[in-house]
Amino acid sequence: MKTTLTPEQLAHFRGLLIERIARIYNEVHSDVRRDVQGGQLNQPDPGDEADEAMGIQLGDFKLTLDERSAKLAQAMEGALGLIKRGENWMCDEYGRAIELERRELVPWTTRCADCQEALEAETQERSPTL
Ligand SMILES: [Zn+2]
Repeated sequence: MKTTLTPEQLAHFRGLLIERIARIYNEVHSDVRRDVQGGQLNQPDPGDEADEAMGIQLGDFKLTLDERSAKLAQAMEGALGLIKRGENWMCDEYGRAIELERRELVPWTTRCADCQEALEAETQERSPTL
């Protein structure tokens, strides 16, 4: 099964993604910002955080946030890459088309609503971010 987005729709989602990526990069720690400014959008090395031994509780919380943000940003970059190549992104699980309404809510998603629901039930995630 294949669905094709119009150039207008692709441009729309591209805009959404760019806006969200910029917001995330402003929130994550400075290492990531430096990487972005250097043109490298790779995942940051979480090992760097181990140096900060003080304030364990706060540190753990921050690390969780950063990892989450990094994953989110990576997913957005991935979706943006597909749009740039003129490809529509499909559900990871079965290659089904991702619902348009779902893309609107989560433009970087790689799963259709059914698969995401199944995954959330499995992992007990508190908030659906992917
Ligand atoms: Zn699916």
